[in-house]
Amino acid sequence: MNPGSSWIQEFWRIALLVAVAWVAGSVFDQVVLFLLLALLAYTFRNLFNLQRLANWLGDPNTEEIPIRFGVWGDIYSRIARVARRQAQREKRLSALLQEYTSSTSALPDAAVALDAEGRIRWFNDAASRLLGFQAAKDIGQPLLNLLRAPEMVSFFHKRDHGASLQITAPGNAQRQLEVRTTPYGEGQTLFLAQDITERLQHERMRKDFVANVSHELRTPLTVISGFVENLQADEQTDPRLMRPLELMSQQAERMRRIVEDLLLLARLESESTPSQSTEVNVKHLLETIADEGRALRDNSPVIECEIESERKLLGDETQLRSAVTNLMVNAVNHTPVEGRVTLSWQDDGEESRLTVTDTGEGIATEHLPRLTERFYRVDTGRSRELGGTGLGLAIVKHILSRHDANLQIESRLGSGSRFLCVFPASRLAA
Ligand code: ADP
Repeated sequence: MNPGSSWIQEFWRIALLVAVAWVAGSVFDQVVLFLLLALLAYTFRNLFNLQRLANWLGDPNTEEIPIRFGVWGDIYSRIARVARRQAQREKRLSALLQEYTSSTSALPDAAVALDAEGRIRWFNDAASRLLGFQAAKDIGQPLLNLLRAPEMVSFFHKRDHGASLQITAPGNAQRQLEVRTTPYGEGQTLFLAQDITERLQHERMRKDFVANVSHELRTPLTVISGFVENLQADEQTDPRLMRPLELMSQQAERMRRIVEDLLLLARLESESTPSQSTEVNVKHLLETIADEGRALRDNSPVIECEIESERKLLGDETQLRSAVTNLMVNAVNHTPVEGRVTLSWQDDGEESRLTVTDTGEGIATEHLPRLTERFYRVDTGRSRELGGTGLGLAIVKHILSRHDANLQIESRLGSGSRFLCVFPASRLAA
């Protein structure tokens, strides 16, 4: 019913009541008394309806409305409409919650919600499977009471949300997990763990395969090179074969270099971080490498050293030599004779920088992110011509990461390149 019309009806009802009381009061000559009685009856009726409304609101049954007509009927139907809408919203929300819970349960990765104190508030099925958590006894427990590995404790306290950590699954030494944390809400944290056992196995298989193939190729290559050399040295060899033999020798040498680089990469990947005990004299290292560079070609560009720090590096000298030599050879190969290659060593107390800068041809920006990938070359033909294997920068990157350092490459086509090796203070000798 239209609310306006129900109020008009109510008004007429009151008017009728007053009129009846007036007429009856006139008959008995007691108008005031009858009017008061009528008013009292009206007030009682409303009080009674108010009490019914209060009872009904305790558990509003929208199907059974106590009064359907008049102002009270109107109030009931409005409240019933709001209650129906509320019930629908609750139903939708609980369906959504149900859907959310079942979808997170279906996740293959463990998800654990933690409060600001690091206590477990909730976790999904995968957390029970991968971490062995049990809802009944582990909800409310601090996460670090259940995952007690020391590296896990320091990782959790660091709160570096971009980082990840590899741990052995609790109760299953065969299973490897990668864990990370993500902040959410107010001070809460989502702890995620992914099973990476299979991925690690595949990675290991790939590394072993490359290392084994490279190793297996070494002996046949040496034999082939040996025979080619013998034939080249033999005076009885048909002179027409000299050119093909020369090409065979070049290609065998190229293959040997690729095999050696692949084996070096495999070694770098499998060995643990080099010990910090060897102090490397960087000044001496750079000067020796610069001398080797000058002897590399007849028409080398100018090669100079800028040593601004006397600090020594803690690391593996052979590996560091190999990395800097790779950078220097690249710089010399890509810089014209009138150009300049600079090897420099600086430190600002916090970190140290070993830089190889050239004024050569430079590298277009789109190649920079991929340069350290294996076999990635800007110009494959040119790289082969220069004797490159396409593995040099991959080796440099690996060696640096084993020294806790990172490689930054800055270059512009036509304006030269800068290869920056940044070492943390922890890698410097006192
Ligand atoms: P390569 O054996 O081909 O030199 P690298 O991994 O050492 O392989 O280098 C990858 C590619 O990066 C090279 O092919 C070359 O195109 C480019 N590059 C590396 N250093 C320089 C440099 N100093 N100037 C210009 N280009 C470079």
